[in-house]
Amino acid sequence: MADRPATQQDMIKLIGLTIKSRRVLDAMAHVPRDWFVPEAQQHLAYADRAVPLGDGQTISQPLVVATMLEAIAPQPHHRLLEIGTGSGYVAALLGELGARVVSIERNHRLANDARQRLRALGHANVRVIEGDGTLGWPDGAPYDGIVVSAFGPAVPEALRQQLALGGRLVMPVGSSRGEQQLQCMTRIGDMALATEDLGPVLFVPLIGAEGWPEQPAT
Ligand code: SAH
Repeated sequence: MADRPATQQDMIKLIGLTIKSRRVLDAMAHVPRDWFVPEAQQHLAYADRAVPLGDGQTISQPLVVATMLEAIAPQPHHRLLEIGTGSGYVAALLGELGARVVSIERNHRLANDARQRLRALGHANVRVIEGDGTLGWPDGAPYDGIVVSAFGPAVPEALRQQLALGGRLVMPVGSSRGEQQLQCMTRIGDMALATEDLGPVLFVPLIGAEGWPEQPAT
C-alpha cells in the first residue's frame, strides 16, 4: 500500500497525544504549515519532522514546536519574542497565540520570505526583524514569552534581561554541538530564574554575539 502524505488533521491528532494545551492545538490547526515548507518538500508538510529550508536551515519538528509553545503558555495579551524566524512558521503560531510578536532572523533571504508569507496570511501583529537575535530586541521588551528556535551554548544574557517577571523563555542549550536539551526558564525575581529541562532535541546552531561563532566559509 502506497503511503499517503500526512494531513494537517493527522499532525494535530499525533501532537494531541502528547500536548494537552487546547490553545496550542487550535493555533496549529489554524496555521497552514504547507505555506512554510518549500515546494519540493510539500509531501512532508504535515509529517512530524524537521524539513530543510535551504542555506542549511530547517523548519522545526511540529511536536517540538508544540512543546515549546506549551512551555511558554502564551496568553492573548502577551508580548512575545522569537529568535530564528526561519520559514516564519513558529512566528505565525505565536501571532495566533499572543498580542504582539517580534521575530528575529539573521539570514536575509529567509527573513524576507517569512515576512511575505506572514503578510499574505494576515499576521499583522508579527514583525520580522533582520539581525542578531542573541542581542534580543530591547525596544519591545519586556517579553512574556521568548522562544529561541536555534541551539546555543547558553541562554544569552540579553534575552534573560528582556524577560518580564513571570515570563518564560524556552531554548535548546548544550555544551557541544552533539547534545542539546530543551530548557524552559521562568523569571521569578529581579535576578532569579527557575530552570526546567524538557528533554533532548535537535536544532540548527544559534550563531551570533552570544551564540556560536560564525562557521568559516569552506
Ligand atoms: N522557527 C523556525 C526554525 C528556523 S531554524 C521555523 O519555524 O521555520 C533556526 C533559524 O535561526 C535559522 O533560520 C537561522 O538562520 C536562524 N538563526 C541562527 N542564529 C540566529 C541569530 N543569532 N539571530 C537570528 N536568527 C538566527
